[in-house]
Amino acid sequence: MIVRKELQQAADRLMEQRRQQAEEELRARRDGLYRHCPKLKDLEQEQAGLLAELTALALHKRSGDPAALRARCAAIDRQRTALLEELGLQASDLSPRYACPICQDTGFVEGRPCSCYLAALRRLSYEHSPMGAALRDQTFETFDLARYSDRPDDRFGLSPRRVMEKNLHIAKDFVASFPNGGRSLLFTGPSGLGKTHLSSAIGGELAARGFHVVYEMAPTLLQRLEDVKFGRAEPQDEERICDLLIVDDLGSEYITAFSTAALFSLLAERLVQSRSTIVSTNFVPAELEEAYSKKLASRLCYEYETLYFVGEDVRKRDRQSKIRDGR
Ligand SMILES: [Zn+2]
Repeated sequence: MIVRKELQQAADRLMEQRRQQAEEELRARRDGLYRHCPKLKDLEQEQAGLLAELTALALHKRSGDPAALRARCAAIDRQRTALLEELGLQASDLSPRYACPICQDTGFVEGRPCSCYLAALRRLSYEHSPMGAALRDQTFETFDLARYSDRPDDRFGLSPRRVMEKNLHIAKDFVASFPNGGRSLLFTGPSGLGKTHLSSAIGGELAARGFHVVYEMAPTLLQRLEDVKFGRAEPQDEERICDLLIVDDLGSEYITAFSTAALFSLLAERLVQSRSTIVSTNFVPAELEEAYSKKLASRLCYEYETLYFVGEDVRKRDRQSKIRDGR
């Protein structure tokens, strides 16, 4: 995975914010506790003073009896523990509550990046991807089922709204069960029915949970695969090794024998490696076979869970109602 310097700096800032937040929260908690029990504050202040004296002794900055100081320290410690117990608290109640207890929000453990830091990098990399900004508003919450007609559609025996409700349910289940052993989805249907919205909602949720999500428009992805093949670009592993690859708008690219073969081998490899993929396309399964190859089409149709997107073009309808309302 290519980690750009700005992403690293953004992840460092995020860690710093988390640490500050944990420390501020501790300060507020401690202040409240001291107000409630001033004795605790006195004990802690005395203990801090004793520790400073012990340090000064160790550094030969003054003379004194270290054993007596240590004994006093231990006695205070016992009193403090008893007092906390009386208050129904534990020592951990006076420690910062870090978002990640493993690295205490430093992002590193023994000089190596912590899993929370890598997760933050992946989320930032998704958000800062060329598509990320455009996709940020496309969440499950903003996916509006009311935009789909509730009149039954002859082809499905259900209303578009009911079909889309099922799709939304499958999408949420896909996220909840992730990583799900390479479960992959095929979104098929005409433009403007919410395929991009639903796939980016899935991508956004998983990226926020720290999974490595790569979102690619089919033409960009296939162009890059071709450029790598002909030595015009450096190979990138992201689309092969990411946890979820989203290939949007398959069929909008210029289809060649090479692009079909390259896509087939990428998708096949991801299936073998149990890595999930979401492909969205305006083509119906029969058109996929015609446009690409039988092999690719049957892989997509039989090994992917197919979700049909039905209804009216919601973007077109929005545009029309804007024009009608004079907006
Ligand atoms: Zn961590």
